[in-house]
Amino acid sequence: MSKGTPSMGKKSGKKNMIHCRRCGKRTYHISKKKCASCGYGASARMRKYKWQKK
Ligand SMILES: [Zn+2]
Repeated sequence: MSKGTPSMGKKSGKKNMIHCRRCGKRTYHISKKKCASCGYGASARMRKYKWQKK
């Protein structure tokens, strides 16, 4: 396993992320049952951080 762009080819196969029902991005984690982008599944509010650029 190596870091960088060549290792991206190994990402195929197991599907952990599906499209989020709220934000529409492919960031909803099936086994974690929450969206990495908006926090759907973890909280009713949108996932937001003060260091986050708007
Ligand atoms: Zn989301």
